[in-house]
Amino acid sequence: MRCEVCGDEIRGQPHRKVIEGGRLTVCGRCAGFGSGEWSPYRPTQMRRGGPPPPRRPRSEVEATEGLELIEDYGATIKKARQKMRLNIEDFSRMIKEKESVVKKLEKEDLNPDRKLIRKLENALNVKLLEASTPTAVPVARRASSGRTMGDIWKLSQSEEKEDEG
Ligand SMILES: [Zn+2]
Repeated sequence: MRCEVCGDEIRGQPHRKVIEGGRLTVCGRCAGFGSGEWSPYRPTQMRRGGPPPPRRPRSEVEATEGLELIEDYGATIKKARQKMRLNIEDFSRMIKEKESVVKKLEKEDLNPDRKLIRKLENALNVKLLEASTPTAVPVARRASSGRTMGDIWKLSQSEEKEDEG
């Protein structure tokens, strides 16, 4: 086992430290960098290998046609509406819906039925449905600080040197 900070072979017990938000296994020398400890026995990812999380019900379209609302239909509607230089009032009048309906649609508080989807698609010239193909969604990676652990090690080394002289 090697230290994930300095890369040296860990002699004796490895130290599990949280460093810059990352869980690292480090040697005794680098253990002082950590802001806390972590346990290797607690699963870090809740979803690994388990059944897929229950999906929010969308609309009956999903079940009947193999089509489902696109993920960001609210933003798509809003963007298309703004592109056409329509405010919510104008747009709601255009599609003969209440303003509150349009607002809810754009906030994705409302699942439009098939009729409304078609109306929106025609009015805005956008596609709001997509074939529902089960695809693996990549797990969102935590944004990295851009620095590698090696950099942090080097930084701390140079700081130490500065102290010495
Ligand atoms: Zn180390």
